[in-house]
Amino acid sequence: MKLVLATSNKGKVKEIKALCEDFEVIPYSELMDEFEIVEDGSSFKENALIKARAVFNALKQDNIVVMADDSGISVDVLDGKPGIYSARHAGKNANDKDNLYKLIQDIKEKNVSSSSAHYTAAIALVTKESEFVVHGWMYGTAISEAVGSGGFGYDPLFIPLGYDKTLGQLDDEVKKKLSHRAKALELAKIVLRTL
Ligand code: IMP
Repeated sequence: MKLVLATSNKGKVKEIKALCEDFEVIPYSELMDEFEIVEDGSSFKENALIKARAVFNALKQDNIVVMADDSGISVDVLDGKPGIYSARHAGKNANDKDNLYKLIQDIKEKNVSSSSAHYTAAIALVTKESEFVVHGWMYGTAISEAVGSGGFGYDPLFIPLGYDKTLGQLDDEVKKKLSHRAKALELAKIVLRTL
């Protein structure tokens, strides 16, 4: 069975491939032209399902599993924002850098230099017969500066609990053990083995 990823986010694809070495993982953009998916759900879970169903229906193949990850960062001093809007925090066509610096600005505007925060990942699996969603979380601190160039997205401002460096500075192997995506994928792999 092919495991098709309903994402073209290079950071996510790299991490998911590294964490699912025992599966044949194919980004859907290798099977068809990318298309816009309107993520209008009200939770990570709903948006992950929207993405996975959209790609499953578009591919029109019965013998595949489509996996979608919907994820984001929630900052306590910002009342949980940007949350499910993490990909568009600095606007509809914002890139990772725009979003990162907008979040830094937002934290500074609260007159603090850091805030407790967490990442959430919802992973949806859609097949012809079934749908599943699992979650993972990573807790830590969001700081009001970008440090390090590793990872992707908001990683340069996030210090995981128990560490004193950002995910932009820490080795990929650390994130592989700790991350919201790694935790959700551990559960997703249990489901995948039953399919
Ligand atoms: P999605 O593709 O709609 O799920 O958007 C996820 C957003 O959250 C994007 O802006 C990502 O850069 C950000 N994000 C999700 N997971 C991570 C992560 O592990 N590190 C840094 N940023 C992340």
